[in-house]
Amino acid sequence: MPKGKRSSPRSRKSDVSPPFFIGGLAVQQCVGGPSVDPFHPKSFIGISDLAELTFCEIQSTISQFAAQQGCHENAALDDMSGGVHEFKHDTRRAGGRTKIEETAAKLIESGNLDWETRRYIGRLLESLELQGVSSERRHFELDDFFVIGCPDGMSEDVVTEFGSSRYPRLKFRAKQIQGNLYAALWAKPLARIIVVGTESNERLDKSTPADATGAERWLRHAWALFSGARVPRPPDYAGKCKRCRFNILNGCPFPREKRVPSVAEMTTIASTSI
Ligand code: SF4
Repeated sequence: MPKGKRSSPRSRKSDVSPPFFIGGLAVQQCVGGPSVDPFHPKSFIGISDLAELTFCEIQSTISQFAAQQGCHENAALDDMSGGVHEFKHDTRRAGGRTKIEETAAKLIESGNLDWETRRYIGRLLESLELQGVSSERRHFELDDFFVIGCPDGMSEDVVTEFGSSRYPRLKFRAKQIQGNLYAALWAKPLARIIVVGTESNERLDKSTPADATGAERWLRHAWALFSGARVPRPPDYAGKCKRCRFNILNGCPFPREKRVPSVAEMTTIASTSI
């Protein structure tokens, strides 16, 4: 049974907004309230982890298992404020910008970047790009699962998703999927995707209309992998495993045995990895 699921789930139907549709999927936003049971009786699909599907479906699915506890905690917390956690990216002084750029540059120059360091660099660059921009985290109930997500930025008509990579063109597709899911769930007409190079001046910045059909397809796909209804595909080339946080040292059998882990194995890898 996926983590977070109880054998006799209590209904939360009174704690959600009226339904809307993403393609053929009925979706209700959880809006919390004073009498809300903090337990969410189904598993979560996290939108940021879903975006990893373009890198490796095994990695993305393990990430979903690893994130379950955090998703449940965040959702329970957000229910206390109407189902919404609002935030604003820091506004930094001009001197702060130089310091952030220098810090990121030094880390990149040091080479051999592990997953944590790459994530830290990404956050530094994001904090530069999105200074003063507001956004919010929300969660939604579907028939079989909950979805939780937090766009990097948001305005009246646009959700913004930011990414950074050594290869911005490769990263762009993942960010587009993520941004489109936010646009569909937040009912915004446009998703703006910005991806910058960590080792070049390349910058991709493109807005596309929300695509409900695409959003539905990715949500169904992520759930089929998580629930075990579909077997995740390994990465398209083995080099990806070297820079994966679930690699051979952390338990993924694919690099050594060319074998896709079972749901039970993915759960174990998730519980023992960072
Ligand atoms: S080690 Fe390779 S196959 Fe396993 S999760 Fe990571 S990228 Fe995917």
